[in-house]
Amino acid sequence: MGIRNLAYCLMRHVGTTWTILAWDNVDLLEGGASAQDSNKCACGGSAKWNDPSGVRWCAGCATGVRRKKTATVRPALSVLPCGVTVKDLRALAVDWPDAKKAKKEDLVAYVSTRYLMPWKPKKAMGVSLTILLRAMDTWLNSVLPTFASASLIRLENQPAMSNPTMKSVQIMLFTLLSHRLAREHGWTGAIEFVHAGTKTKGATATAAEGLRRAALAAAASRRCAPRRSPAPWLRPDYTVAPRD
Ligand SMILES: [Zn+2]
Repeated sequence: MGIRNLAYCLMRHVGTTWTILAWDNVDLLEGGASAQDSNKCACGGSAKWNDPSGVRWCAGCATGVRRKKTATVRPALSVLPCGVTVKDLRALAVDWPDAKKAKKEDLVAYVSTRYLMPWKPKKAMGVSLTILLRAMDTWLNSVLPTFASASLIRLENQPAMSNPTMKSVQIMLFTLLSHRLAREHGWTGAIEFVHAGTKTKGATATAAEGLRRAALAAAASRRCAPRRSPAPWLRPDYTVAPRD
C-alpha cells in the first residue's frame, strides 16, 4: 500500500497450487506507470534530468560523463547549461521573439523543449487527497476488470496514528474499489484489511534471492506495462486557473 509504490497481486488458489494471474507495483503520481521505472534512467541509474517527452536520464547519461555499460540510448538534447535565473533563461530563449516579456514559468516551459531539465521525484506526502483520488480513479480504469475476477481482496491495513495520509489512501482505495466493482461489474466479493506484518509471513527467500526476484519482477513489469505519460491533471503541480 503506497502512493509511489502501490503494489497488487492477483492469485488463483486451487488445492495446494497458487498461480499468479496479474501483479504490478504502480506509481499513482506517474499516471499508474510501474514504480520501478518512474525514477530510473534507461541504464538503471537514478534519474536527475527530464526530457520534453517525460523520459528520465541519470546524470551520467545526460551529460555523457560516466555513461554506464547498460546505457543503450543517448539523450537527443543537452542538459540545461545554467541555473534557472530569468536572465539566463532569456539568453537561452534568444530565438523566441516573446522571450523579453515572458514570465519565468513561460521561459522555463519554452527552454524545457530544447534542453534536458533538472528533475526530482515528487514528494508524495505533499500531494492533496483530491489529486490522489483522481490518480487512483484513473489507475482503476485499467485494472478494475482484473480485480473484478477476484472473490476476495485483501488490503494492507495502515496504522491510523503514525501515518494519517496512508490511512486516508487505504480508505480511499477501499471505498473506490467496493463502489466501482459493485456498480460497474456487479461484484459480490469481499474486501478484508490485513496487518502489514502478514505480507512476508512464511517467506523463506534470502535477501539475495529477494533482490534477484525484484530485478526479474521489474523486467516483467516493464514488458507488460509500458510506460505511459501522466495526464497533466495528474501532476502534483497542476493548478486550476481561478475564474473571473
Ligand atoms: Zn543513465
